[in-house]
Amino acid sequence: MKKQSVMDMDVRSSALGNGVLKKPVTNRLYQTSTMAALLDAVYDGETTLDELLQHGNFGLGTFNALDGEMIVTDGVVRQFRAEVTIDSPKTKETFEELVDSLLGNPNLFGAIRFTGEFQRVDTRTVFCQCKPYPHMLEVVKKQPTCTMENVMGTMIGFRTPVYMQGVNVAGYHLHFLSEDSKRGGHVTEYRLVRGQLEVASISDLEIQLPRTEQFAKADLNPESLSEAIRIAEGG
Ligand SMILES: [Zn+2]
Repeated sequence: MKKQSVMDMDVRSSALGNGVLKKPVTNRLYQTSTMAALLDAVYDGETTLDELLQHGNFGLGTFNALDGEMIVTDGVVRQFRAEVTIDSPKTKETFEELVDSLLGNPNLFGAIRFTGEFQRVDTRTVFCQCKPYPHMLEVVKKQPTCTMENVMGTMIGFRTPVYMQGVNVAGYHLHFLSEDSKRGGHVTEYRLVRGQLEVASISDLEIQLPRTEQFAKADLNPESLSEAIRIAEGG
């Protein structure tokens, strides 16, 4: 059997990108940016995963905003993010403080996933509405709420920068799903016992705006925007 060098192996599909893949040049080292730049906090690059895989199928690296360790084997990119074990109870406030410290830069979005044991989770959901649709603040007055105690599950969501209020919900927006997938909803209050926390900062944002008549006529900059979001989202 013909012995192959690592760089002779065929590039297969990327787990995170689906660009047009070319066979890379063999026995050639490709590098983007430098270690010295990384040491000086240059954590964002310009190379996409698809572009990276045009140059090889084996390698090491990191991601924009230093978001985990990159391992590339057989043309498949894998991302290993920081995972933190929480082994002492946390309130909403102390949990958010911990996530803030892990995410660092408050001007980037953050993605959050906590899996483990909850002493208590308060959630709400919303009823499906009929046209003509009532205002969101009318809808949430009738929202069904649920309190779960001593439950295992996953809480996921985002931390949105303050300057994005209105485009999204500034601050934390988390949803809960019980381990048996039977209960869940928008989280309004919680207390964690223990579990695994994963966070990632996000520096790419894509928003698609509706081209509907309702969106064209909507008042998207009311004076009471922040207060309305606080009431609607229970923040
Ligand atoms: Zn929600």
